[in-house]
Formats: sequence, structure tokens, C-alpha cells
Amino acid sequence: MNKELKNFIYKVNTKDYRRCLFPGGNCQEKTSNAHSIQNSRIFDLLEKDKHLVGFKIVPKSKTGPYLDFDEKISKNKASTFQGLCNNHDTEIFLEIENQSLDLKNNSKQLFLFAYRAVLKEMHSVMISTLKTQSTFQKQVELGLLPKNKPSNFGIWAGGWVSNAYMMHLYKKKYDQVYLNETYKDISHDLIILESQAPTIAVNSLFSLDHITIRDDVPRVAINIFPCNESETAVLFSYLNYEASLIRDELKEIFFARPLMKRRLLSKLVLRNCENFFLAPDYFESWSNKKKELVKKYFNETIYGQDIEIESSEILLF
Ligand SMILES: [Zn+2]
Repeated sequence: MNKELKNFIYKVNTKDYRRCLFPGGNCQEKTSNAHSIQNSRIFDLLEKDKHLVGFKIVPKSKTGPYLDFDEKISKNKASTFQGLCNNHDTEIFLEIENQSLDLKNNSKQLFLFAYRAVLKEMHSVMISTLKTQSTFQKQVELGLLPKNKPSNFGIWAGGWVSNAYMMHLYKKKYDQVYLNETYKDISHDLIILESQAPTIAVNSLFSLDHITIRDDVPRVAINIFPCNESETAVLFSYLNYEASLIRDELKEIFFARPLMKRRLLSKLVLRNCENFFLAPDYFESWSNKKKELVKKYFNETIYGQDIEIESSEILLF
């Protein structure tokens, strides 16, 4: 077996997955809650009484769990993940936390926004894989599943491991860019939405599962955040060799007129992202019909597929 794969499977099966994702995997420090979206600067432009609006999972026995609005997310907890120790979180992101942003020229800053989405996704894939693996092992232990014969659950759990391994290889490419400071290895497309009040912040990484490139799926990092009271930045980031394929998929958004651009972006976010937060004042201005429509679209496109739905009200800007 490939040594790296073996090592990776070992890590997945190590129960306490609270390890720092700093490149190299050698950091032994305890992880702390790291923000994937900046608390000062970005959330400050969205919050009301230190709260934001997002989604939460509601368990429902008859129809299975679904996602509903969470109107009281503390801005100090929103978007956090346990993927880095305190020192490394500070060290890596210093340049976008404390310095003024120059999104048009500073390739390191653009890279750091994308890197955060990659680290957050790596952490969440590891947690899901770990949970699936533990459930699988428990069922084998209890004799509910055969140990050495394939079972549907076993195949599903194995799928998670290979998924996480591909993500681990992808993250390593970003690690190399970080360590070697070769920020130009990542391509970006930046859209500035003008005359746009702060309504939403997003930090996410999603894959285009219907495309294959070099034995993997291409991935897109997306960051959306208000720059000030009248401008919102939308930043797409990709590995250079995946850029032209991805740009072709996203071109409808790039060439759309202002309102259509916002509609297409809204649907893209709802289909592909979980890590996004809305301004409470803006959310309160929605009609009940709009809230229901957005919730329905979010729930029914959970696997990234589009659905036919009357969509002029699906707008997050
Ligand atoms: Zn660390």
C-alpha cells in the first residue's frame, strides 16, 4: 500500500481528531476555535446585537433531518472550526487579519482567503470520515456487519476515506504554495458588487463532481464578504491547472448583468455552501414566502444539484 495512504488511514482511525492542520502535520498543539470568516472587519459589517443568521440542522424523525434558519448565531462562534492551533492560525492569516486589504494586487492575501476555505473543508471532511468509520467499526464489533465481507455501509464508509484522501492530496498542493510562497500557482477571479449593502459572508470550498481532471474532481474556493457599506467582494479561487475548466463552468455568472449575477451567485451559494452567514437586519426584511423559498431551495439542492423552482426571490444580496 502507498505509504502516504497508509499513514492517512491511520490518522483517520486515530480517535481524537483535534490535530492542527499546519503544513507537514507535525504540530502537536491543541487546536482552538479558529474563525474561517473574519470576526472583526467582516462580521462587524453584518451583525446585529452580536448575532448573525445562518442554518442549523433540525432532527425530524418522520422526514429525516433538515436545515432551518438559525436566527441567533453568536458572531464569536459563527464560522469557527477546530482545525488549527492558536499560534498557527495567527501566523498563517496575519496578513488578512491585521493589514489593509488590496484584493486587486496582493496575491498572498487572495491565496489566504482560499487557503482558509481549503483548511476548513479538510477539517470537516476528516470529522465526517472519522464519524462514519467509528460507526462502521462499532457495528462490526457488535456483529451487526460482517468484518471481512462487503456491506453497503462498509462501502459507504470506505467512500468517505477515499474522499478524504483526495481532499488531503488537494490540501497538500495549497500547503506547498504556502510554504514556497508561490502564490501565483492559484488563479482567482474577483468580482466587486457595487452599490451593495452588506448582506452576506461566505467561506467555502466545493467540488464540481461531474468533471474529472487528473483523476480527481476540480474544486472551487469561494469567499464572499462586504468590504464596506457599499461594496461586496466575491472571490473565486482554483489551482492553475483547473482554472480554465472551472471558468467555463462559471462563465454564466461572470458575464451576467448585475441583478442576474446576484441571482446566480445566490443559487450557487445555496447549492454548494454551508459556511455562510446573513445580516439579521437584511434577513428580517424578507417576506415569509421568501424565507420558505430559500429554505426549500437550500434543503432540496443539498447534493449540489439544481432544481426547477420559481427563483426570482432566491436572492441573498
Ligand atoms: Zn499548530
